[in-house]
Amino acid sequence: MPYDSALRIVWIYPDLLSTYGDQGNALVLEQRARRRGIQAEVVHVRSADPVPDSGDIYLIGGGEDRPQILAAERLRRDGGLHRAIGRGAAMLAVCAGYQIMGSSFGGEEGQPVGGVGLLDISSTRGPARAVGELVAEVDSALNLPMLSGFENHMGVTHLGPGVRPLSRTVVGVGNGDGYEGCYAGHVIGTYLHGPALARNPALADLLLHWAVGDLPALDDRWYEALRNERLEAVLPSPQ
Ligand code: GLN
Repeated sequence: MPYDSALRIVWIYPDLLSTYGDQGNALVLEQRARRRGIQAEVVHVRSADPVPDSGDIYLIGGGEDRPQILAAERLRRDGGLHRAIGRGAAMLAVCAGYQIMGSSFGGEEGQPVGGVGLLDISSTRGPARAVGELVAEVDSALNLPMLSGFENHMGVTHLGPGVRPLSRTVVGVGNGDGYEGCYAGHVIGTYLHGPALARNPALADLLLHWAVGDLPALDDRWYEALRNERLEAVLPSPQ
């Protein structure tokens, strides 16, 4: 499919939420678009700057509690992300960024902090930090292979009726209710770091598909070999 203007990938708040390497998600999208001849640019939006509403795919990552609270306040006040999602832009929100997408999340003392309300979820602080590998089986409606990554968070996320679970947790904690992440429309939230799109190229292609339509397959043998190595190391061996 011809795509006449450059695909705009918007990386939100590198100065606040870049602790866990999730910025790699922007690089993966950019590269997977370019390998298919689609021009792509990554727009870095610092927290003092307005979030453009003309992007195609929005990304936000994980971070510590205080920057997370600041990011939520600024995004709420800014409104650009709301306008973009309102006109159908795609989004991947990871960990702290995932929690921010909901109605509220737990601050550094567990106090409720208002989120941006783009996903029907709320998060609280759980009893223990969830740290380690995360493997999850994706909702069959999305037709994606098993997701793999790692998690590092205190939050427990409660899903409302307006979202569907992204996946069922096989290894790890995820939302804390047996599921990992959620999605609604073209907005995905997840606890997966890795970066998620480097570990799961099919998830990257889902976002690209939402943004530009059908895509030719890429030769992913090398990535698949790495993925399988990780999965084999983490998944319980069959009896
Ligand atoms: N501060 C949040 C929590 O601990 C998010 C952590 C993260 O982004 N990895 O739940």
